[in-house]
Amino acid sequence: MATDIFHPDFKAAPWWWEAWQPDNALSQDPPASVDVAIVGAGYGGLATALELRRRGVGAAVLERGDFGVGASTRNGGMISGGVNLGKGLSGKSAAAEGFKRDKAALLGAGADSLATLEDIVQREGIDCGLIRTGRYLGAWTPAHYADLETKIDDLNAHAGAGARMVPRDRQREMMASDYYYGGMYVARSGHLHPALYYKGLLDAAHRAGANLSARADVERIEKVTGGWRVLTSKGPVQAREVVVATNGYTGDLTPRLKRRVVPVASHIIATEELPEPASALIPELRAIADTKRVLTYYRPSPNGKHLIFGGRARFTQAAPEVSAPVLYRYMTDRFPQLKGMRITHAWTGNVAFALDYMPHMGTDEGLHYLLACNGNGVAMMTYLGTQTARRIAGGGNAPVNPLDGRDFPDHPLYSGNPWFLPAIGALYRARDWWDRLRA
Ligand SMILES: Cc1cc2nc3c(=O)[nH]c(=O)nc-3n(C[C@H](O)[C@H](O)[C@H](O)COP(=O)(O)OP(=O)(O)OC[C@H]3O[C@@H](n4cnc5c(N)ncnc54)[C@H](O)[C@@H]3O)c2cc1C
Repeated sequence: MATDIFHPDFKAAPWWWEAWQPDNALSQDPPASVDVAIVGAGYGGLATALELRRRGVGAAVLERGDFGVGASTRNGGMISGGVNLGKGLSGKSAAAEGFKRDKAALLGAGADSLATLEDIVQREGIDCGLIRTGRYLGAWTPAHYADLETKIDDLNAHAGAGARMVPRDRQREMMASDYYYGGMYVARSGHLHPALYYKGLLDAAHRAGANLSARADVERIEKVTGGWRVLTSKGPVQAREVVVATNGYTGDLTPRLKRRVVPVASHIIATEELPEPASALIPELRAIADTKRVLTYYRPSPNGKHLIFGGRARFTQAAPEVSAPVLYRYMTDRFPQLKGMRITHAWTGNVAFALDYMPHMGTDEGLHYLLACNGNGVAMMTYLGTQTARRIAGGGNAPVNPLDGRDFPDHPLYSGNPWFLPAIGALYRARDWWDRLRA
């Protein structure tokens, strides 16, 4: 085990929590009754509550842990408008065909997700370092580069992405490395400080009059006349409507939804202060990701002094002693000049994949849900929460956007227990290795 990579002040906690960490300062007891009860206080649940309150509808958010304990204060903070929609779909599967058929509308919804997030940040005065620096997507192989090239026209036509290809001999305009076979630059992208964005959303929902309850584990949801009885560890709540916004932490509370999402762990490390500003590694402080199956994603910290480097070091939860050395190796493969830098923080959290790799909102047996970020939920779950609130407040059944009510597939062999993830991780790593070898 490479212990020399850890700084003496190392913490197994998100770097973001140095600025704000999960707490329950705004927690109230849950109300006896409310128009809409929302399970889960991540970006999705809070955005739902905020928009409901703006439309004069009562909202109570019920969170199992402290506010912010889920993925919403643990992520990389990288944002884009739909550039990843459809990623993972291949061949002639029904999902791939469906995406092809509806791609203009779906990419448009992806673009709207970024606009929704930017509107909220501006309207609510959230100071979270939101910045549009663009994103560079490095191609792992020449074939991946060619594949990215086929996507540019759609991204620009339907999502206003401002995307262009960057050949390998110009890659150093994007990053101080020759690691990839060129890639795609997407102008309509950027990053923010995820925990400060979360805090801003929490404060905004509170100001708008939402009831917010921390440590209120929702244990059962029962259908009753005129709505639902929501049983929590802090007592029952009567609600006209219920929204499930539990994403990578969806459990036995909603078995039908649990079978539709696969929780996958993602891991991140943060470096100590870099010897030079991060712009020496990544000009213009862009966000970077790549086309590997076992992807990595990285960006400078908002103060431009540290590198925040994430990836699927394992597909399941793993201790920092396991995940950090793997990420460190990935990082120094891309930036050999960082060898010797120490890690001050390492952490993990869950994302949720749908079996069709698409984000989903809709209703299932009367329960509203917004689920399956597929690794990209900072803007998307904010958008789906806002859209779910509009749908509920509007009272109609018609879809309010192209993602609303799309078929949310399950599989007869998947019951919600992702026992197969270590094997998939090993297979993906082997395929990445083989692809690169051939390249
Ligand atoms: C390491 C990592 C890096 C990521 N990087 C990025 C990135 O750079 N860009 C990007 O766009 N996305 C990224 N994501 C994804 C993004 O963080 C998520 O999509 C987003 O935070 C999901 O928000 P959410 O509200 O749906 O879920 P969460 O924030 O996970 O909230 C769900 C909440 O539901 C609660 N809950 C579950 N069950 C119950 C119950 N029975 N009762 C009460 N509460 C319950 C949980 O405690 C949890 O707090 C990343 C995720 C991780 C883990």
